[in-house]
Formats: sequence, structure tokens, C-alpha cells
Amino acid sequence: MTTGIPLSRLLKTHFGYDSFRPLQREIVEAALARRDVLAILPTGAGKSLCYQLPALAREGVTLVVSPLIALMKDQVDQLTAAGVAATFLNSTLGMQENRDRIEAIRNGDFKLVYLAPERLMSGAFLAEVQRWNVTALAVDEAHCISEWGHDFRPEYRRLRELRQALPQVPAIALTATATPRVRDDILVQLGLRDPAAFLASFNRPNLNYLVEPKQDALARVVHFIRERGQESGIVYAQSRKRTEELAASLRASGIPAVCYHAGLETAERARNQEAFLRDEVRVVCATVAFGMGINKPDVRFVIHADLPKNLEGYYQETGRAGRDGLPADCLLLFTRGDIVKQQRFIADISDEEARDNAREQLEHMADFAESDACRRIGLLDYFGESWPEENCGACDNCLAPRGNWDATVETQKLISCVIRVKQAGGPPVGIRHLADILAGSRAEKILARKHDKLSTYGIGKEHSAAKWAEIARTLVRKGWFAVDGGNYPVISVTDEGVAILRERRAVSLTRLMEGEKTTTRRAGDIECDAELFEALRNHRKQVADAAGVPPYVVFSDVSLRHMAREYPGDKAAFARIPGVGDRKLNDYGPGFLREVSTWLETHERRKFAPLPDPRASVPKPVLNGTTFATLELWRAGKNMDEIAAKRGLAISTIESHLGAIIESGEDIDPRRCYSEKEEAEMRAAFEGSDDLALKPIFEQLGGRMSYGKLRLFRAIEARGASLQPA
Ligand code: ADP
Ligand code: MG
Repeated sequence: MTTGIPLSRLLKTHFGYDSFRPLQREIVEAALARRDVLAILPTGAGKSLCYQLPALAREGVTLVVSPLIALMKDQVDQLTAAGVAATFLNSTLGMQENRDRIEAIRNGDFKLVYLAPERLMSGAFLAEVQRWNVTALAVDEAHCISEWGHDFRPEYRRLRELRQALPQVPAIALTATATPRVRDDILVQLGLRDPAAFLASFNRPNLNYLVEPKQDALARVVHFIRERGQESGIVYAQSRKRTEELAASLRASGIPAVCYHAGLETAERARNQEAFLRDEVRVVCATVAFGMGINKPDVRFVIHADLPKNLEGYYQETGRAGRDGLPADCLLLFTRGDIVKQQRFIADISDEEARDNAREQLEHMADFAESDACRRIGLLDYFGESWPEENCGACDNCLAPRGNWDATVETQKLISCVIRVKQAGGPPVGIRHLADILAGSRAEKILARKHDKLSTYGIGKEHSAAKWAEIARTLVRKGWFAVDGGNYPVISVTDEGVAILRERRAVSLTRLMEGEKTTTRRAGDIECDAELFEALRNHRKQVADAAGVPPYVVFSDVSLRHMAREYPGDKAAFARIPGVGDRKLNDYGPGFLREVSTWLETHERRKFAPLPDPRASVPKPVLNGTTFATLELWRAGKNMDEIAAKRGLAISTIESHLGAIIESGEDIDPRRCYSEKEEAEMRAAFEGSDDLALKPIFEQLGGRMSYGKLRLFRAIEARGASLQPA
């Protein structure tokens, strides 16, 4: 079935890469072993390669279903430039062209055929597909199959019929987003059989996360982009009008920018997107409508000029930066006013469940923006992932900790004020009201409730009401205040808050955010001769325009940066540049080599420190679909009973899943599996036993401990043992 050429050879000759990114090799190998595969990897992880490389390594043709027509051409252009026989079928083709392509596919002229899901709606087409020598099926953006996902495509449901038409053909499903519900949908809808499932970390190491207080957003956005040379980026804003304002401000400052939103004509939208992809404009100012179709690998910054609705959206949108692995900045401009604005929209949602849900999501988003802790940890935590270190070194809070101030007195005033309000009777109050009492406001609501008679009234004149509100919110995040109620959230003091006041504990709080943030850490950076890089970039643009493709189809910025630090002088040296495969070496090598040699006639060659080894990556576990589902719930903090109930499986099954999970290398906290007392009991029993068989131990313990628990204990102990030096 396979061509017998080693994978690493194929990787270099076609794609020009020397090493696999994390999980790519494992996924490719599982696919080539004819297994069904589910791959959940973040944006920029290199999912395309996971089905493109196997397609080259086996006989026959791989069908790729992908949701966006615009992206299909892009992908086929990239493959063609790399010398891979690929084509697509979608509604943009004329009848004759369509017939010709189908004829060529029947002839076996292509290794990969991209299909629009609409094609699957026709029975005749399914019959046609059966005449081809299809040896694999790839479903990109597989979350589109699920109604629970954010990009549901009804046509994706027809993939079932395609599967039935090709019963022997293994399938690989790829996505960057899959909540457990979506993931289960993918498994069921595609009928994946005992799939090899892969879940990569959602951390994006090359992204820097920055949050700044929002003041004069237009000026700040212009300034931020001006500082970034020729780099491309996206500015997200909440309304169509804002995107137009932003684009106009940028243009007025000499920065080529366009806008993108659902209110534009289809043709104009396509034109603006194309201009961005082709580096004709640097910036797109967009609503969230601008998204999935953006394959551009060298987006160097994403700015949120307004607060996103939820962390999921924030992660998706910032995720469009830095697909190429080079450093990129994500700037969020934040003001409380944006929360208030969105709360107003939310209050208008008629469905109660949807409203509560939106409110909760907004709260998470606000907490993230206001937090003084590591942004990366906050973000990953939301997706149920933990981060091994305390300081990520690449977010504003880790790069420039804000320092502390003594808030003992302020905290006492706030807490006792809430207590006084409660003692005075009547309904509890919200943060604004509380702040107004302390600041001594004469507002109607204060006087009406006689809160100007409280002993705490006006005892906080040293700060503005806004500042008091800000401090109060910090106390909420600290868990000393609790917030309850939907439309009108009110404050109460938690037990811990009461203790703080009673024990007169000293309180030190993080300073509030202020000023502009700078980034220093540049993870993934490739140091190079910046001027030569610009010269090569210009050359790339000319080559791309002549071929009618976006510049990144010719070479990525990564390749150009390597050229601009290694100064290749001949074909052999050029072939060693990452991203240079056989075809690109022949097609583009001579032109770029000429650029470099011309450059060296008038410039000194510079020296750069060596780059870290990209292969220093951690392998991740390979688990089957059902075990994987258990792992996700476990990571989300569910205990064994909850997982069993949720999945409708026996506890013993869940225990044995966990055993397999431990054996695959996942770090599982024994404390979540059994108590210390149970552990001691099991340890004593195992130590008193000659072999590791479970039955005698089970009997010795009189059945007090289930087989599953014993198996888990054994797996955890074995893991500990294997970590010991031999
Ligand atoms: P995804 O679909 O997961 O978002 P892509 O398949 O679009 O990611 O790949 C993102 C970028 O990573 C592309 O520019 C691609 O060329 C690059 N890439 C993929 N695999 C490798 C690799 N093994 N080494 C270097 N670059 C890679
Ligand atoms: Mg992709």
C-alpha cells in the first residue's frame, strides 16, 4: 500500500522540513497503519501535513473535505508550489473544467483532491467517487459536523454517506476546537472505529499576551502598529462601524488597512481578504466575521480594540497570530465600560439559559482581563489545562509584575461597609452602590435607603468611587466578597472576608493596570539580518505576483529569516533552508540565491547565535477514543463517579481507563483516585505480596478495594518506580 519512501525523506523533499512538529509523526504513522484518527491540535500546529504527508506515502488518492472554497484554492496552490499533484472540486469551476478534473482523477493523476462538502449532496457524485482509487479520507475543520460547535455546516452531515460509499477507507478528522460534546459528535457522525486520538496542548508558546487599559483606543492602535515595521496584523472590534473607523484612522496615518465585516458586499469582502493575504495591505480591521478562512501564516499581531464576548472567542481570534511559529503579539484593550455595554446586550437575550450562559462567559472574560496573574495560565486553565510554571515569561503580568500596595485599611473599610449595610436591613447592594457609600455620594439611591446615616458613609473620601469599585472587584477575585444575582449582582462577605476583618490581617494587593505594555520575550524568534530579510521579502512579493499566488505560498517568513542569517551561496546551501523542498529549490532557488549574492556585494555578512533544537519537544500520549473522553473529563476536574455517571459507564471501566492513561505517560494525582488511608492499606497489601497479581490482594483486603482501584494504584506505583534511577 505504501510507497516505501521514508517519512523524513518525504518531509524534506516535498515540504522542505527537517523535523516533525509535536504529534505530527505519531499521527502520520497511525494514518498509514490504516487506523481512523482524531487529531485535536491548536491552530498553527501543522494539521495539514498530518494528512498531506500520508497521501504522498501511499498509493491512490486522498479525499480532503474542507469547508471553505477560498481555502481550497490556497491549499492546492501551496501543494502545487511544493510539487505535489493536488486539485479541488467546487462550485467555482466551469462545467468543462469540472469534467476535465474528474477525468484526471479517474486516471489517478492526483494524490490529493479537495472537496467542498456541498458535493456530497448528490448521489451521482457519491457513485463517481466509488470509481476512484480512494485510499484515505481527511476531514479538515471537523468540528463543522457538530451543531454544538460554532461553525456548524449541515452539509458536513453528509459525510456519513461518503463513509458508507467507501466502507474500507480509513478517515482522519482534524480540528482545533473540540469540547467533549463536539468531539463525541465527530466520533459518532463520522463513524470513526476505535480511532487513535491525539490531543495536543493548547498552549501557543510563540504568542505574547498583553492587556492594557483602554484610553483613546484609535491612537493607541495606530501607535502600536506603527512600531511594527512592515508586519501584518488583525484588529478586532465589536461593531461594523468601529472597524471602518479604525481602518480609516490607520490609512490616515499612512498604514495600508482595509475593513472586513458581514455588512460588506461579497465581492468587496473577498477583495479585502485577498489584499491582506497578498501583503497589499498590512492590516484588516474586522468583526468576528473574519476568521476561519485566514490561512495567512505571518499574522504578527492581533489587537482586540473591544472586549471579546468570551474567552473561547478571544483564544480563537488571538490564535490567528503566529501560525508560522515566529513570535506574535496579542493586545487586548480593556475598560470596564465594555463590560457594562455587553451586559446591556445580554440583558436583552430572551432565553433565560442562553442569557445566564452569556453572562457567565462574559464574567470569565472580564476576570481574565482584570487578573493580575499569568494570562497564559488563566487561558489554559479555562480549557482545563494546567501550566507547569508560575511565570510564563510571555504575558504582561509575568513580564512586568505590577507590584503591590498596602490595602489593609481599604479592605477593612469595604468589608465593614457591606456588614453595616446588612445590619441596617433591606436588600443587599452592588459594587457601585457600595463604592458610592464610601465615597460619600449624595446620589438619590443612597439617600432613599438612608445609607448616608451609616457609620461607614463617607469614610473613603481619599479615593474616587471608581477606585473603590476597582478595589472591591479585586476583593471578589480574592474570594473575600461573593457576588450573587443575575441582572443586578449584589455583594456579600464570605467567611474568609469576615476573618480578614476580625483578625485585622494585613492585606497587600496588586497595583491596578496602567500604561502601555512592551514585550521583551520573543519565543520562537529567528534572529536575522533585518535589511536582507526586507530585500528577500520584496523579491518574494514579485515572484508571488508573477505566479498569481499569495507570498506565503512561495516561502514562509521562517524560510526567509533562515536565508537572511545563513546567506546561502549555492544550491546545496539553499536546499538546507527549512521550507525548501526539491520543487522550490528548482523553481525559486536561483532567484533567491541571486538576491543574496547581490546583497553581499555591498553589505557585510553578519553572524548570529545558534538556534535552539526544534526537536526538543515532548511526545504526547496516544489513547483510543473512549479513554480519551475520560481523560478530558478528568482534566476538567471531574471525579470518577461523575465521569462514570456522565458517560454511562461502570466505575471499574473508568478506573481501567485511568490506568491506561497513566501508562501512556499522563501525570495523574493519586489523591484524586483514593484517600491516604486507602493508599496505606493498599501499599501494605502489595508489599506483603510476592507478585503483582491483583486477585490475592483483592481477597486479602476482603473486597474493600475494587479491582479498578488496585489496578490504578499499581499503575501509579509502577510509574513512580520507572522514574527512579536504574
Ligand atoms: P493548522 O491547520 O494546524 O492551523 P497548518 O497546517 O496551516 O496548521 O500549518 C501551519 C504552519 O506550520 C504552516 O505555515 C506550515 O507550513 C508550518 N509547518 C507545518 N509542519 C511543519 C514542520 N514539521 N516544520 C516546520 N513548519 C511546519
Ligand atoms: Mg488547518
